[in-house]
Order: sequence, then C-alpha cells, then structure tokens
Amino acid sequence: MPEFLKQQVFWGLRFIDVVMLAGGVIVVFSILSNILRRFRDDQIKAQLAKIRCPQCGWTGASSKHTLRCPKCGNRALSPS
Ligand SMILES: [Zn+2]
Repeated sequence: MPEFLKQQVFWGLRFIDVVMLAGGVIVVFSILSNILRRFRDDQIKAQLAKIRCPQCGWTGASSKHTLRCPKCGNRALSPS
C-alpha cells in the first residue's frame, strides 16, 4: 500500500479510510436513488390507466383521475 494512503488526513482517518467512506457513501446514494426512482415510476404508473377512446379510437395511457381523451377531448372514457 502506498505510504500516502496510510497518512492520517483528518479526525484520525487515513486517506484510504476517506476513500472507502466516500465510495460507500456513493454506493449507498446510488442504491437509494435507484429505489426512489423505481418508487416514483410505480407511482406514476399507478396514476395512469390504459384507455381507448370510443369516439375517435385513440388508445394510450391517461390519468385515472381525468380519463379524458387528449385527441378529441371525449370525457366518457373508461379504462380497458
Ligand atoms: Zn377521443
């Protein structure tokens, strides 16, 4: 191990400790952001319903709460 890695940088931590700590923090953060992103995607998906407009034939995902056709504005949509 190179000597500078064993030198104490601050708070009694060696350079190698700081590097490992930083690496650990980065790993934890990337895992957390992955989980958060998946959670947010699930929430967005849960808000959307696949629908088909009987008026103009448009199909796609729209908010469950509005259920309004983005093409013709038909409000009489039902999830299919
Ligand atoms: Zn429509």
